[in-house]
Amino acid sequence: MNCKECNNKGHTLEADYQHEVMMRVQCLDCLAHENMKQELSLRLTKVLIDTSQARMAKLLSDTLIGLIDQEDSPDYERVFALVAAKNKESLISLLQVMA
Ligand SMILES: [Zn+2]
Repeated sequence: MNCKECNNKGHTLEADYQHEVMMRVQCLDCLAHENMKQELSLRLTKVLIDTSQARMAKLLSDTLIGLIDQEDSPDYERVFALVAAKNKESLISLLQVMA
């Protein structure tokens, strides 16, 4: 999302004339957007909660590969290495970082 209020900075600068300084004010549009995403994520989780592990594993794998493929120079070797080492935690971390 591109925020028209703060240009994705998460805050705006507003003049405090009493103290003659510029104040950082949290962007309410961004805050509302983050809250909406969290609420949607919770609802989505409840709907998906009883999906089979195999199906979720396939979905996450495809999602991770799709995210890696969007990189300018995708590092597939790294993912192959993590998979070969069965380094589940690093793979999950990678997904968290990229998502
Ligand atoms: Zn904003």
